Amino acid sequence: MKRVYNFSPGPSGLPEPVLKQAATEMLDVNGTGQSIMEMSHRSKDFRPIIEHAEAGLRSLMNIPSDYTVLFLQGGASLQFSMVPINLAGVEAGEPKKKAAYIETGVWSQKAAEEAAKYIEPVIRASSKDRGFTAIPPAPKPDPEDAFYHITLNNTIVGTKWPDLPETGDVPLAADISSCILSEPLDVSRFGLLYAGAQKNLGPAGVTVVIIRKDLLGRAPAWTPAMLRYDIHAKEGSMYNTPPCHGIYIIGLVLDWLKNLGGVEAIAKINREKAQLFYDFLEESELFQSPVEKTSRSLMNIPFRPVLSDPKDIESRFLAAAAEEGLVNLAGHRLVGGMRASFYNAMPKAGVEALIDFAKAFENSFKNSFKKRKI
Ligand SMILES: *Cc1c(COP(=O)(O)O)cnc(C)c1O
Repeated sequence: MKRVYNFSPGPSGLPEPVLKQAATEMLDVNGTGQSIMEMSHRSKDFRPIIEHAEAGLRSLMNIPSDYTVLFLQGGASLQFSMVPINLAGVEAGEPKKKAAYIETGVWSQKAAEEAAKYIEPVIRASSKDRGFTAIPPAPKPDPEDAFYHITLNNTIVGTKWPDLPETGDVPLAADISSCILSEPLDVSRFGLLYAGAQKNLGPAGVTVVIIRKDLLGRAPAWTPAMLRYDIHAKEGSMYNTPPCHGIYIIGLVLDWLKNLGGVEAIAKINREKAQLFYDFLEESELFQSPVEKTSRSLMNIPFRPVLSDPKDIESRFLAAAAEEGLVNLAGHRLVGGMRASFYNAMPKAGVEALIDFAKAFENSFKNSFKKRKI
């Protein structure tokens, strides 16, 4: 067996010790004589598993007790609907409420588009005119807005908010799908956080929502039960069958992270990994980062050749990298180029292997291009 270094933006690599433990427990989890996939979610055996995952998340993220943690389904994409419905939805016939959306890339646009079906999302700031290569200055909260939505890390364009916006009494809601647990985050600054698990937390199929309790119970009467935070909260994420296997894996990932020293420790490693790669791009005569320095992501690093017609180089780079076991480096189909994702599970050795490969690739091209950084 030979495992690759997987630079996928998601679903992405999981820590190897987690996969090994899950393999060991495949037929018999916690001495129950059952696989986690066969177990009733209402059984006494499953309860400790979901409680363990929640406790792990609460301690690693320092989640205050006035916040509820939910394990839901439907991905971050369903939160694009659930957030506006639950925080600002109105009864049929009533005028729509407004909320602030900061446009920083594709996911924030999708969030706003979906919200427009239920509320009036107002794009209070955008970096679209700059190709989303930076986070725009945060506008002051408008007291009219029911909430203030941001995408903390922009997976496709490779930006992250350098500082959280000050939103006063307007609840801050953030999509943290691609940066959850990558660095310390002050949960108390937020009204609501959500993240699909498949980037930094576990397998696809679970979405974590962290919501301040006073924001529960605002959904209008027409809201489908499955889309109501208050119902999921009341039922402890077990209104219906939860994604048991995914929740179990999240618990193992959180154990792994805790053993490693927690979020501070992983943040240090994540900063080192990203710095190595940004330094490489800085020195490179062939590749560059399209993202402004102040807004650069630690998790997702897009890069592209400096040449005017890069397509040939890109496809050669991706093919040769894959042969070396460095996979999933293609940029998102909407932006092209290349992108390396360095989530928590990516070891520093993987980043170093990628840099070594990219340097050797560049050397083999040395004579066929001239430095022409933009
Ligand atoms: C991946 C991603 C999404 C989409 O997640 P799904 O779980 O596939 O719906 C949304 N927002 C961000 C920031 C992402 O990285």
